[in-house]
Amino acid sequence: MTDLKGKTALITGSVQGIGLEIARAMARAGAAIAVHGLADARQAAQACEALAEAGAPETRFFGHDLSDPVAAGRLVREAAEWRAIDILVNNAGIQQTAPLAEMPLDTFQRILAVNLTAAFATMQAALPAMAQRGYGRVINIASVHGLVASIDKAPYVASKFGLVGISRVAALEYAAVGSRETGGVTVNCICPGWTETAIIEPQIVARAALHGGDRAAGVADLLSEKQPSRRTSDPAEIGALALWLCAPIAHNVTGAAIPIDGGWTSQ
Ligand code: NAD
Repeated sequence: MTDLKGKTALITGSVQGIGLEIARAMARAGAAIAVHGLADARQAAQACEALAEAGAPETRFFGHDLSDPVAAGRLVREAAEWRAIDILVNNAGIQQTAPLAEMPLDTFQRILAVNLTAAFATMQAALPAMAQRGYGRVINIASVHGLVASIDKAPYVASKFGLVGISRVAALEYAAVGSRETGGVTVNCICPGWTETAIIEPQIVARAALHGGDRAAGVADLLSEKQPSRRTSDPAEIGALALWLCAPIAHNVTGAAIPIDGGWTSQ
């Protein structure tokens, strides 16, 4: 069991979905959680309450809009004024689908800003202090679309390939920091396939429409196309891997892009 007592994790987009489940896994292990996302006061309070209930000794909500890279850097600095950040999870992300020829330029730029540029800014702000302490974990939630492409997802695929690339650069730059005892500083990506959260709902609805509005048939259709296990992932399963990456025993796992995709990228 990974013990995160005395540690603090900043998880972007942790008011719902995969981010909330990563936060819950880390809260159960005893970490204080800097909660973040685009949320109203009620959703923010609900997430903080759930994480306190799971075992987080302290939580604090930060609401910066990550489409602004300056705000992304500010998020880390403000969180670090609260508590030193040991673990940074860049999880916030957005998705919109359209053929490349029809994708509006401002949609392309917005997806790149939230999914990629914000992660550059948060890593830049967080990694030097991690290096000073000899322990740090950056976990970037990329996607199977950081490893392979699909049609209609030009900005999303570009952002996630970019996230895998930038994570490898950071992993190399910080690889020699610390020791086995301190745990070192590692930077990795988790690359989920279909995982049931709000972000894939528009795609489920569109596919269900081809089956007379039958949602289960829509999900089955999406899975049969790409994900050989024919099972979606539960967001808590992403949380479990993120938690393991935080353990000192994972000190030599760095620069990896680990799929949780039911075999999608093995094809
Ligand atoms: P979600 O839509 O439930 O959560 C997205 C989170 O990002 C929310 O908490 C939201 O507040 C935050 N966010 C969005 N725009 C923001 C902005 N401008 N500023 C600040 N925060 C913002 O979706 P999810 O599935 O939990 O997505 C989490 C991550 O997992 C994303 O990076 C996504 O690309 C990735 N992912 C998801 C799947 C999947 O099938 N669900 C698959 C692969 C990768």
